[in-house]
Amino acid sequence: MDSNVTKIIIVGGGSAGWMAANSILSQLNKNIKVTLVESETIGTIGVGEGSTPYLKEYFKALNIPESEWMPACNATYKVGIDFVNWSTVKGYESYFHPFFSQFDLKPAKLFFDNTNKRRMQHSINAHPNHYFVAAHLAALNYSPIVKEKIPFDVDYGYHFDSVKLGLFLKRKAKERNINHIVANIEKVSTKDDGDISSISTQCGKKLTGDLFIDCSGFAGLLVNKAQNRCFTSYADSLINDSAVAIQTPLDNNEFASPLTISKALECGWSWKIPLANRWGNGYVYSSQFTTAEDAEIELRKELGLTDKTIKAKHLKMRVGRLDEHWRGNCLAVGLSQGFIEPLEATALMLIQLTIDRFIQVNNQHTIPSKGTIDTFNTEINTTFDGIRDYILAHYKLNSRTDTAYWRHCRDHVNETKSLAKILDAWDSELNFDDTLAKNKSQLVYLKPSWYCILAGMGRFPKATKADCESNQKSANEYCKAIVESYFIKNHEQLNTLYNR
Ligand code: FAD
Repeated sequence: MDSNVTKIIIVGGGSAGWMAANSILSQLNKNIKVTLVESETIGTIGVGEGSTPYLKEYFKALNIPESEWMPACNATYKVGIDFVNWSTVKGYESYFHPFFSQFDLKPAKLFFDNTNKRRMQHSINAHPNHYFVAAHLAALNYSPIVKEKIPFDVDYGYHFDSVKLGLFLKRKAKERNINHIVANIEKVSTKDDGDISSISTQCGKKLTGDLFIDCSGFAGLLVNKAQNRCFTSYADSLINDSAVAIQTPLDNNEFASPLTISKALECGWSWKIPLANRWGNGYVYSSQFTTAEDAEIELRKELGLTDKTIKAKHLKMRVGRLDEHWRGNCLAVGLSQGFIEPLEATALMLIQLTIDRFIQVNNQHTIPSKGTIDTFNTEINTTFDGIRDYILAHYKLNSRTDTAYWRHCRDHVNETKSLAKILDAWDSELNFDDTLAKNKSQLVYLKPSWYCILAGMGRFPKATKADCESNQKSANEYCKAIVESYFIKNHEQLNTLYNR
């Protein structure tokens, strides 16, 4: 960290603020004073209950075991996402996007081979669900935790209560002596060069710092309101701008299988997330195609929810990213830096990547140059854009014809050039792996994810060539045997964590 930095001010106490605070406090020179200011009245967004495997690394870096943070946040395991009704292709109406591990190497090779034969019009099974261990963990309700030590890590994510996660991280930051101020920021002052000089609270208290981190959510108090930084909207590609969330009780109070369900509805998609004590449900939709009221009715119907006393929470989303996440003495982290709709639950991962990379750069350079900061911003932008492409692929690949929304998403939203390259290669006789390799620098999602989505949605030409021998059965048996030999049942593992 720049040796001149002695005071860091973090604005905002949502997941972004407290995640940033803990990372900085654990990795920084102890002489730096870190202050976090949050408003009691404005509150946090209060949604965001799924993660990627990156969150595991976050807690590992802080040395906080699952047995401590998971029960505090009603957290459960997540081995992937089940995409239901995005495709109408017979046999491909749903598919599972798994987290991967070395266990998958053998069956995944069969999957890639079968898929490439299927692309070349052979009649052969190429549905991803047969070939990945995580899909079998989900189907058989096993946790991703192995019974005995193995020589590699198994990737998995979590589901958690986002409000409780914020409170847990707040407690941890307090244990590390963060200076915590509860106040509404009313004014942000800038210097002639645009840097932030101070922030002032409603009660007139002025806070100065060497470095400011804007974690104020969609408001972007520092980066939008005070600095008016350029924002690249993704709205021409990703048209969902609203969401409605509803919490419901768990069926029989039992731990559910470790997966998120993402189901296509009329004007968007619903999420269903199992926590240890309840379900998190929601509907992400486009306000161009439905109203908040109709979306809530549709979600309640989907959930079979007749209890009107269970309240819904309505949210608006600004989808896109800043061009400069870091400028001068101010870094944006979390919703203030940008947001991609939560289809693959990537927001906390972006928070982590931004803050980790920021700390890394500062540890490498005593005073980071403009060039270094530009490179940082380019890297974060590439990550945002790469995730945008993968999310957009879900919409471009949908084959639904039932509503104007789905037809519009497939036929009229902007297909980015980077995504077009991937889809064109898949649809042609080109070697798909070569295309992925050539575009590697722009991709966030790697080969297994691209094969899973393209094959999983049934994006194949009609089979015209003779049947190839199918090895799907052997892959299925192999994966099942791995699950039963190595993994602990989900309820057993969670019962241990929760002392039930
Ligand atoms: P917020 O939670 O909004 O926090 C902002 C903070 O700034 C608050 O503490 C607030 O009090 C403070 N603040 C604002 N203005 C002022 C002021 N004037 N003075 C003082 N303080 C102020 N992410 C995932 O990783 N997985 C998911 O599954 C997922 N699902 C999502 C679903 C939806 C519908 C949405 C909208 C988001 C989802 N996210 C998800 C994103 C995730 O919720 C956020 O990235 C995460 O919670 C971080 O939010 P934040 O801390 O940036 O903002």
